Amino acid sequence: MKEQQTLPVWLFQKEMNCPACGRQFMDSYPRYSRLRIDYVEPDLRPCYVSGINPFSYDVTVCFNCGYAMLTDCFTEMNEWQRERVRKTIMPKFHSRHYPMILTEEQAEEKYKLAHLSAQVMGLKDSEMGYLMLRTAWFYKTQPEPKEIQCNQEAGLNETVLKYYQNALPLLEKAYVTEKFPIRGMNELTLAYLIGVLHYRLQNYEETNKWLKVCYANREITKKENSRIFEKISALRKVWKNDAVARQTQAEAEELEHLEAEALSEK
Ligand SMILES: [Zn+2]
Repeated sequence: MKEQQTLPVWLFQKEMNCPACGRQFMDSYPRYSRLRIDYVEPDLRPCYVSGINPFSYDVTVCFNCGYAMLTDCFTEMNEWQRERVRKTIMPKFHSRHYPMILTEEQAEEKYKLAHLSAQVMGLKDSEMGYLMLRTAWFYKTQPEPKEIQCNQEAGLNETVLKYYQNALPLLEKAYVTEKFPIRGMNELTLAYLIGVLHYRLQNYEETNKWLKVCYANREITKKENSRIFEKISALRKVWKNDAVARQTQAEAEELEHLEAEALSEK
């Protein structure tokens, strides 16, 4: 096939089985084993070397029944959810095949179909929240620098912020009600993520609250958490500048004190 020849080396074709209708189909997927992560952005989106942006290819859609989900969760479906997809989505779905290389519009359509399946299937808060986060990642038009920038400088577009907003209450609920690890995140990582999303939405008091949750976590100074600790500390600093601008110096000092305390217990 001509299209196959033009696939970039980081994409490959794979056969998928639909857990909803049982049909098989081919789709293209990023070859993550070949993609090197340069660094992780403040919202935990990986930034890959060579400017490769694989996020358009992270949703699988069944050509036959219309079931769609993030590829890494595509096969996770219980009997009730299967019935919901078969009764609600399948009858209205017009069979369609996506080309090996997607346009922006096609990639967006796949995410929208995933949202539809997610609603019909009554996903857990963590799963729905994670889908919203991944959708925000998809809508980022360029990577953020590794070191967090203040909101004005980061200049994230409104669609990204909208999906942060959708993700937040779900992730907060999951933090309280679900068992860790949650989508690969430990408590500290999820608390940081919630904090940074609040910061991006200019909920400064909530950011402060979640930073405190991070500093109260006993694992914060463990070696395996050193990368997330760096991110927490960077968020604290950028939040502090905003806090000083808003004349809440005392809160900023309290957080600084908490960080120093955590480090001294190391
Ligand atoms: Zn199907």
